Amino acid sequence: MVEKSENPRRRIIKAIGAGTITATFSGCSSMINSASRYQRPYSRNAWAVPRISADNVIREVVGHRPFRPAGFVVRSEKLGEKVIVHNYGHGGSGLSLSWGSSALAVRETAGLESRDVAVIGSGVMGLTSARLLQDAGWNVTIYTRDLSRHSTSNVAAGEWGPYSAHDPKVSSDKFKSQLSFAARISHHAFTNLGGAAYGVRWVEMHWPTNSLEEKLSPFDGRFPEFYPHEQLLGPDEHPFPTKYLRTTVTMLIEPATFLRRLTQDVYQAGGSFIIRNFSDKREILEIPEPVIFNCTGLGARALFDDQELVPAKGQLVFMPPDPGVDYLTVGGGEGNLYMFSRSDVLLLGGTYKLGDWSAHPDPEETARIVSEHQRLFSAVAAKLGS
Ligand SMILES: Cc1cc2nc3c(=O)[nH]c(=O)nc-3n(C[C@H](O)[C@H](O)[C@H](O)COP(=O)(O)OP(=O)(O)OC[C@H]3O[C@@H](n4cnc5c(N)ncnc54)[C@H](O)[C@@H]3O)c2cc1C
Repeated sequence: MVEKSENPRRRIIKAIGAGTITATFSGCSSMINSASRYQRPYSRNAWAVPRISADNVIREVVGHRPFRPAGFVVRSEKLGEKVIVHNYGHGGSGLSLSWGSSALAVRETAGLESRDVAVIGSGVMGLTSARLLQDAGWNVTIYTRDLSRHSTSNVAAGEWGPYSAHDPKVSSDKFKSQLSFAARISHHAFTNLGGAAYGVRWVEMHWPTNSLEEKLSPFDGRFPEFYPHEQLLGPDEHPFPTKYLRTTVTMLIEPATFLRRLTQDVYQAGGSFIIRNFSDKREILEIPEPVIFNCTGLGARALFDDQELVPAKGQLVFMPPDPGVDYLTVGGGEGNLYMFSRSDVLLLGGTYKLGDWSAHPDPEETARIVSEHQRLFSAVAAKLGS
């Protein structure tokens, strides 16, 4: 079910759920050898190599990215006496865009007199909307079918990258500006949250590749600050079994830590949670709050009859964490591949299957993800002589 006509490199980017390395790298052979303090020496001591094996798999997980070709929805509407503010459909980059998209959503409340608001959903959009509303003086009640640890947001791999948020061939210029705005606000907000408390840190990301072509940034390189210190290393400058290594630093957001901390923050600011599964819009309109934020992710398809919203199934494979591995990789083999060394797990991805609602892990995908990473890192170990 992977979209067939798609270029394989872009597919990897989408499969992360967000994306990664970008245009700022591309086609810049002149950058080869331009050392910066982030360039890791090509030596055995500088690279810890993850130990990948099928025997080490502790879990396989599946999540469904809420994808809309036209892009995510942030708008308000009046339904009877209620004001509904929509904030859903962020595809593979909801974690990354959360603060920015929620800031846009909260802006929709300008001029409203009431101070009581209901937020439906406690994934990353519900929680960041709730926090921003509280900061703006609203009394927040979150109604949700699942607490955040059971949401798609908790399945996110966690790289900060505003990718696979839309299909650029379908989305409007207005949406593209909205995306840039949300990305900038969100990037700024996350840089303020660095550290263990929110599970946000900067980390090197490496992309083994044989090609110097392709522009991958959804922003045509307009925001180089999103991926600073980019390098394009030549054949003798890195230990990967490819001609080049594109390398940068990015933010890694550990979803479980981030969502748990946001939940605590909502409580601390006086918010409350009500577990409730709404079966339709009519039930939502019966809750007492006059202003209602719709942060239901893929749930908005049924609740608000948005047929444009489709799942993009993603599958991840977890291994025990390896604190020695202090970098991420993207690509380097067949199909969508990425290795994120998080503090809770060593995560291997992934898949991106548009329109696939199945909730079970596919054993063939698990085998591919594991064996391709095993092949990649065995080659790295061999080149390092370890
Ligand atoms: C494999 C994978 C990897 C990903 N990697 C990244 C990444 O690296 N970076 C990144 O930025 N993004 C990534 N994403 C994307 C990200 O996870 C989503 O964009 C994001 O989680 C969407 O958040 P949300 O709050 O809108 O939806 P959700 O997290 O799905 O939350 C929706 C909430 O609404 C509630 N709800 C739904 N229906 C109802 C109902 N009928 N009644 C009551 N409550 C309801 C749910 O219970 C839930 O609490 C990834 C996704 C996947 C699947």
